[in-house]
Amino acid sequence: MIVILKQNTENARIEMLINKIEKMGLSCHYSAGAHTTILGIIGDTSTVDINLLRANEIVEDVKRVSEPYKAVNRKFQPEDTIVRIPGSEGKEVCIGGDFFCVIAGPCSVESEEQIVSIAKDVKKSGATLLRGGAFKPRTSPYAFQGLHSQGLELLLTAKQETGLPIVSEIMDLSHLDLFRDVDVIQVGARNMQNFSMLKALGHCGKPVLLKRGLANTIEEFLMSAEYIMAGGNSQVILCERGIRTFETFTRNTLDISAVPVLNHLSHLPVMVDPSHAAGLPWLINPLSKASVAAGADGLMIEVHNNPSAALSDGAQSLTPAQFNSTMDVIKSQVLFEGKQI
Ligand code: PEP
Ligand code: MN
Repeated sequence: MIVILKQNTENARIEMLINKIEKMGLSCHYSAGAHTTILGIIGDTSTVDINLLRANEIVEDVKRVSEPYKAVNRKFQPEDTIVRIPGSEGKEVCIGGDFFCVIAGPCSVESEEQIVSIAKDVKKSGATLLRGGAFKPRTSPYAFQGLHSQGLELLLTAKQETGLPIVSEIMDLSHLDLFRDVDVIQVGARNMQNFSMLKALGHCGKPVLLKRGLANTIEEFLMSAEYIMAGGNSQVILCERGIRTFETFTRNTLDISAVPVLNHLSHLPVMVDPSHAAGLPWLINPLSKASVAAGADGLMIEVHNNPSAALSDGAQSLTPAQFNSTMDVIKSQVLFEGKQI
């Protein structure tokens, strides 16, 4: 249920109303935008008397929200959420609204030389965050599983060298302590419905990059984001990374329509990972361009300094030189869309 408040209402009166709602065992999501102030009521609202609420002097209107996701719903917050990540030299990296961001780096962190050299290259080309997996969710138990805590330490070395904030995937809640210096915690496609993990990340105090599951609907995706927001963490970034279909030419099928749909349904930033969607480096340019044109707030692209020797996902990784020309394509499309990069 959303309560639209009259303009220029004093804060004290808003607080009184919030207290009243909370005394009914419900919680309140407060959103003050440039033009409207909205109280989103979460919980069992079946006992709330809409007419009584409408009769309150500071209330403009009351509407029921039929979707099961509330805090992530654009009806609860019409303005875009902008996730802000502290960057180097006191500058922030912003994702959402008019700010476009590119996360780049290898699938897996493999060595200091590898991650530092890729970090320097992607930074030069205009990436604003560095990715690198330290815990890898591999289909085969015999495949490279990541360097674990050592991988996270090497990412921090690359951060010190370049100033790029870092993004890495968590696979097990028991590792949460190891992620204390990671700037953005990634939840991989295979963990999108790991509800105990989502609940814990609701209190982790860090931005979370939530990837869409391989075979999950948009509604299920938003419900997973709701789990994180329900814990009090509003810094959630959605990432479309391709879904399973009958098509086998590409690794997955990039659901490009998910981008405008998510932007329509939710205020959260929406990123696209064309690398895992396509599985093929030559598709990164057209899919990146399409993602920006569809309204994405950012892209996550795998880059490796020696793709043929990569320990994971070399076949889909761009070389630093390829990434540099992809960035030219991305930048001109982003400027055409009127966003900042
Ligand atoms: C990744 O980003 O390295 C990854 C494993 O992606 P996904 O969870 O989308 O498969
Ligand atoms: Mn990968």
